[in-house]
Amino acid sequence: MIKRFFKRIFAKPGLSREPAGVQAPLNARDNAARPVSYHVNKPAIWGHKDHKIDKRLLSHNAIRVCEGLQDRGFKAFVVGGAVRDLSLGMRPKDFDVATDASPEQVRTTFRRARIIGRRFQIVHVMFGPETIEVSTFRALSNSGHDNTDEHGRVLRDNVFGKQDEDATRRDFTVNAMYYDPKTETVWDYHHGMEDIRKRVLRMIGDPATRYREDPVRMMRVVRFAAKLNFSIEPATRAPIAEMGDLISNVPAARLFDEMLKLLGSGSAMSCLVGLREAGLHRGLFPLLDAILDNNKGEAFLVEALRRTDERVRDEKPLSTGFLFACLMWHQVVARWETIQKRGEQRIPALFQAMDDVLVEQCEKTAIPRRITGDMRELWAFQPRFEKRAGKAPFRMVEQPKFRAALDFFELRAFVGEVDTDLAVWWREFYDADGKGKQELLDHMKSLPAGAGGSAASGNKKRKRKRKPNQAAVAQSGPESH
Ligand code: ATP
Ligand code: MG
Repeated sequence: MIKRFFKRIFAKPGLSREPAGVQAPLNARDNAARPVSYHVNKPAIWGHKDHKIDKRLLSHNAIRVCEGLQDRGFKAFVVGGAVRDLSLGMRPKDFDVATDASPEQVRTTFRRARIIGRRFQIVHVMFGPETIEVSTFRALSNSGHDNTDEHGRVLRDNVFGKQDEDATRRDFTVNAMYYDPKTETVWDYHHGMEDIRKRVLRMIGDPATRYREDPVRMMRVVRFAAKLNFSIEPATRAPIAEMGDLISNVPAARLFDEMLKLLGSGSAMSCLVGLREAGLHRGLFPLLDAILDNNKGEAFLVEALRRTDERVRDEKPLSTGFLFACLMWHQVVARWETIQKRGEQRIPALFQAMDDVLVEQCEKTAIPRRITGDMRELWAFQPRFEKRAGKAPFRMVEQPKFRAALDFFELRAFVGEVDTDLAVWWREFYDADGKGKQELLDHMKSLPAGAGGSAASGNKKRKRKRKPNQAAVAQSGPESH
């Protein structure tokens, strides 16, 4: 018995697979239609020489959690996206652990742990700033009528199960691998390792059924393809064209979370382009077409997202309000112009445009009020940069959102939407001490009328060739606000 166990653990990968029929034969996978039953109950187990995971890329705390549970006789593995990223030689941004211990058993194993969630409980084990999310293996979802909405979306999915069931209910083959830090083995139920090597995203089971169960999987596949530079297997991609509209049945708060992941993926622009190619943007950002088809809007968005991706790569924090303010700015501008053409004054027209755009977008993605508040502030600041006289500039720089608003203004200057000189002046004003600030304002007064001063110079949209130092200022990325 023990001998057989060791043989299974340490056998050459491939030899440890179940006899034919349990897993689809490797060479048949690319063309074949999905078998009706895609559940697999024995994994392939890969040793270090096959998966080559560098243990130094693992969080010590994830290892501690696995060991803590294993010492109490439970199974415990690092799972999901972390194993995928580790297999690709990347350091995962967070770690999930899966176990056969119940949430209560997990909680009592660690000093700082708390159970969260009511529907399906998971445990957060906390180590200083790091939290390891531990979930108990889940059973295969029952897609019977009682558990789904009228479109087939799974509403209840909260039964504990066995490890093989847990693997089958995950989304893509590369996300269904389990890594045991102690033996340094990867337990692979659905040929995930092979798909890692091929750099392909493949849905476990019948893609259409799995998208119906949870339409967010369509957004996930687009995000992973952009972030990992993977292709999407044809059968996994095919149903999306037909099924994209199901996104509209997903609760808005969940879509908002997914949008945040997308924008913070480090490949935000490719994700948006991927969403558009898949036709998924219609349910999320109905105006993305308009933005991307409008030259100015596109230049602004491309630059904003390029800076965002750079911040992610440099592991700097992102500001959600800033990001969404960028995404929707050109909708606001277009609406602002329309309202002014109807005869409304400039500033009330801006406020009306902000309201209109936020109402329309919030129906699709429930952007929390705290964040729409930040967005409004950033937008409302913009016309104020045009006035450089009196006490107003001193009051402006004192406001908490000034830095963010100036970054936003610099971004606009960078794409030629407002005068670069104006952006440079404000950065100098912000950096100067009290005396320097006054000198800058006095200098404005001494200029002939129309050369700046109190006039709304931002309105003129002079397009100048940037001096090198100005370009440098305009390139400073959005700070975390
Ligand atoms: P990343 O954290 O890099 O965004 P991830 O794959 O870890 O990617 P998470 O949302 O953290 O994504 O989910 C962890 C794991 O849970 C996934 O790898 C997958 O196995 C499973 N999972 C998450 N969402 C779904 C879903 N909608 N359907 C099926 N399985 C899912
Ligand atoms: Mg993850």
